[in-house]
Formats: sequence, structure tokens, C-alpha cells
Amino acid sequence: MACKKPKELLGVCELFSETGTEGGYWAFQDSKFIKKVDRKSATQFSCAKCYCAYVKRNGLNIRISRIIPLDKALQPGFKTPKSCRGDQHDFQPISEEEWSYDGLHVLKDGDWLTIYDKEKPGQIVWEGVISLKPRKTIHEFVRGWRVHSIPLNADKEKWLTYFLKNYPAKLIQLKKK
Ligand SMILES: [Zn+2]
Repeated sequence: MACKKPKELLGVCELFSETGTEGGYWAFQDSKFIKKVDRKSATQFSCAKCYCAYVKRNGLNIRISRIIPLDKALQPGFKTPKSCRGDQHDFQPISEEEWSYDGLHVLKDGDWLTIYDKEKPGQIVWEGVISLKPRKTIHEFVRGWRVHSIPLNADKEKWLTYFLKNYPAKLIQLKKK
């Protein structure tokens, strides 16, 4: 009987929101699906003043939800600014990385996750089996962020930081039935 080694994925933690309003999922982005792009070929832009964002696709500019820089969003008392009027936006490329959803895994109970320190990646800041308690109401927040579930065996405040700041991580997914 062959003993198959479980597949380890390397990547980063991510709080994944489908629409930006219903809440975030604790997720993992496989680094094999992160592509570096230069500024010239950037396809995503956001306004430096109001954070409205758009995506360039097939010559069209498609409006998406706001993209607020983390350092701003984490400031105490931060409030989303009012949208600029008309053509007052100051659009800047927002990302030098393109993430493919093919590499995105929403964490499930039973997955094994190891989160490493961002400054000292050799150091583990959290490790364990994923165990999530689904939220009871839509009004479940961690530090102002609406989330779909609360980790049962982790400090949710610390987790939020790891996931918002895309800490490096290793994921071993529970074998699918
Ligand atoms: Zn604007």
C-alpha cells in the first residue's frame, strides 16, 4: 500500500470577500497563482482620494468596489471617504501582483494551516487544524471587519492581522472525499 504524502501548498493568508459587503472568508492564496505585473501593464486602479476602483478589461474600464489600502483601513477611527464627484478621481495602479482565483482556497474545517511571521518567515506565529464557527448573524465582526466565521482555536484579532496583511503560510488541505 503506497503512502501518499499530503500535498503542501505555499502561499499567503487572505481575507477573501466576494462582494466586499457580505463579509470575508478566511482563505489562502497559492503563491504559484500570483503573477507579478509591472506598472505599465497594470489592470487595476484605485482613486488615491476616495479609493473607488476599476479594472481595465478588453479596453473597457469596469467599476469594482472600493479598494482601501490596509495601512489606512487599520487606522483607528478610519471612515470610508465620500466618493469623488465626476472626474475628480486620482486613479493610480493599485497592485503589482495579479492573483488568480484558481489559486484561492477558502479554509475548511480539518485543513492544516501554518502561518509564518512576515518579518522573520522562519518563525511560526500560528499553526493548527482549521476549526471555524459559522457566524450566527450577519452582524459578526472582528475589529470592524465582517467575517463569515470565527476561528475556535486562534486569537481572532491576531488572525485578522495575519489575513489582512497576507502573512506567508503553508496549507495542507483535508483530503476530499
Ligand atoms: Zn475618487
